[in-house]
Amino acid sequence: MNKKMQKAALPLVLFCVLQGLLPAASGGTAVYVTNSGRRYHRETCSSLVRSKTAISLSDAVRSGYRPCFLCSPPHLDAGFPQQAAAAELYRVNKAGRNGAALASWHDADLTRMLEAEVIRHVDGDTVGVRIKNPPGGIKAVETIRMIGVDTPETVHPRREVEHFGREASDWTKQALLHKQVFLAFDWELRDKYNRLLAYIYLPDGTLHNADLVRGGYGHAYTRFPFQFMEEFRSLEKDACEQKRGLWGD
Ligand SMILES: [Zn+2]
Repeated sequence: MNKKMQKAALPLVLFCVLQGLLPAASGGTAVYVTNSGRRYHRETCSSLVRSKTAISLSDAVRSGYRPCFLCSPPHLDAGFPQQAAAAELYRVNKAGRNGAALASWHDADLTRMLEAEVIRHVDGDTVGVRIKNPPGGIKAVETIRMIGVDTPETVHPRREVEHFGREASDWTKQALLHKQVFLAFDWELRDKYNRLLAYIYLPDGTLHNADLVRGGYGHAYTRFPFQFMEEFRSLEKDACEQKRGLWGD
């Protein structure tokens, strides 16, 4: 190949390399389907006992498969701003090596996250923040709904639930209000109320979402998929066995 041809071939080579990378960055996540079912699953799902075929998440969705209720597999990304702005958001489902998902919430890198101050306390799993240098698509002041945890309502007809709702709420207030925090994201950026769906890390690496579940201040909220679902389920199991918080007598 002469010099001129090499020059012409370079953009093509780059294009192919980028094409090769694209599936990994958008829906290249593997999920599993069965021969007869219409739902897609995580690899470990008990529904895969009879047959199990790997398929990319984007192909599964395109082919009309719906997420399984049992194993709550990942959804396609939703609501994230495109291009440059998206790169500034630290997402645990693609923040690992080569854009892979983080294996554990302990592996997160706080230095790459959005920094914020908690300026308003709402309840156990919801706070208001002021974000430092918000990228496109993110406002300076936002309400955060914590991913993967659901704390009891603070207004509920049953007395004991009300009690733990208040404890969870007080604990979040004490742990987070006026504190510096770091925000990480996952599959979906916002919920239907337009709140940001985020993981809230403290400067020492503590993940408040996980701490709520561990302390029995809330349930692992597995109705919607999130990267650390297995870890949160195991924290919940532990809290239940140890009768912590809402699991107490
Ligand atoms: Zn399943």
